[in-house]
Amino acid sequence: QSSRLLHPEDTIIRTPHSVIGGNHFVMMAGPCSVESAGHVERMAEVAKQGGATVVRGGAFKPRTSPYSFQGLGEEGLRDLRAAADQNGLDMITEVMDDEHVAMVAQYTDIFQIGARNMQNFSLLKAVGRTRIPVALKRGMSATIDDVLNAAEYIAAGGNHQIMLLERGIRTFDNKYTRNTFDLGAVPVLQELTHYPVIVDPSHAVGTWELVTPMAMAGVAAGASGMIVEIHDDPTHAFSDGPQALKPKTYLKMAKQAFQLHDLV
Ligand code: PEP
Ligand code: MN
Repeated sequence: QSSRLLHPEDTIIRTPHSVIGGNHFVMMAGPCSVESAGHVERMAEVAKQGGATVVRGGAFKPRTSPYSFQGLGEEGLRDLRAAADQNGLDMITEVMDDEHVAMVAQYTDIFQIGARNMQNFSLLKAVGRTRIPVALKRGMSATIDDVLNAAEYIAAGGNHQIMLLERGIRTFDNKYTRNTFDLGAVPVLQELTHYPVIVDPSHAVGTWELVTPMAMAGVAAGASGMIVEIHDDPTHAFSDGPQALKPKTYLKMAKQAFQLHDLV
């Protein structure tokens, strides 16, 4: 079902405000975590100014430590929904647990499956039973074939609205980059599947100074869009502050990304 051989034309996903796939370019931006109603609303406004049609924000956070901020839960979903609606945007948010799928479905336009859950098969099957688009993030040690098989778990349930997110993988040297951005995966996935391929330069590099150059590299590699973390006060961000772009930097990067996409 994922294969180009059986399905040569690009899958195009349509959400209320976005067209995702093929030669379209979608910008998704927002904070790593939903921190408060007011904050996410302001960040949604910035996202929109940069040309985003989707606002991101985690309400259920897959933190490495159980003592780190875990997200606002359903209240965060409500806040993100309101921020999206006030700005005429779609929302994307992570669902971590199959028991939460029905609840998150009441709010979101796109489910995000996090890297740590890429092979959580009961979760994949649960979102596969819905008809809500799914953004599947590549696991940090997942091969390309692992990604394709994970997508297959979603498609097997009848949900074919899948996009694949390259967010960097673990390699032998991630001292200066949080992960290694596997740019080659972008054209490879596009050749093997008909699903939109989106890049996440934020998690790929982990520090904001590296986000713009690698975001451009992702666009040059032919991605159908990007998802990027933004924050107006990164040092006080609840999660992933070091990789957040401040509004001014994001606006500049986004402008360049759209311009570059027109050339690719
Ligand atoms: C995120 O998008 O904030 C996130 C947790 O990403 P990943 O699953 O790629 O680590
Ligand atoms: Mn994050």
